[in-house]
Amino acid sequence: MTTPILLGLTAFVVIFGAVLLRVILATQAYCAYRGRWLVRCPETKQTATVGVAAGKAAATALWGNPTLRLDQCSRWPERQNCGQECLQQIETDPDNCLLWNIVSRWYEKQSCALCHKPFGRLKHLDHVPALMNADRNTREWTEFRPEELAGIFSTYRPVCWDCHVTETFRRLNPKLIVSRDRSGESHA
Ligand SMILES: [Zn+2]
Repeated sequence: MTTPILLGLTAFVVIFGAVLLRVILATQAYCAYRGRWLVRCPETKQTATVGVAAGKAAATALWGNPTLRLDQCSRWPERQNCGQECLQQIETDPDNCLLWNIVSRWYEKQSCALCHKPFGRLKHLDHVPALMNADRNTREWTEFRPEELAGIFSTYRPVCWDCHVTETFRRLNPKLIVSRDRSGESHA
């Protein structure tokens, strides 16, 4: 193999490797910053739900360090022109700001309040677990505003999806349940 061909091949491998590395870093940036995040708003000192522009983070990661900007916030549109200082919390402690992690850790330590089945680590493709109030009403956790979940977690109890479906049916069909309980037969 001649020297020019060898040099050409070497240059191709180096350039291809560099491009591949940047694509991998961009993909990692996209995966790292998608989803919703809970932050402490520097202005109000209250919890806010924000979203990071993952596509922009990925695009900028092609050329260097990813640039983080918000693409949604529970305080928008009123405060849409804020300085987005809360992004620093996500950069320094992403694991504890990601909404999914916060919710998953809360359920992971507990069992269903009705059937007592342990939750374990939540999985994205599983049915969504629910929360039950003192009146035995259940709602999927995704129906609550994320920034209110810390307070909700202290007053509601965790319920698995199966029990949530059963309780919802019971609540929506009280006459059917009473009829079944009295007769001992199913009228469904
Ligand atoms: Zn259950």
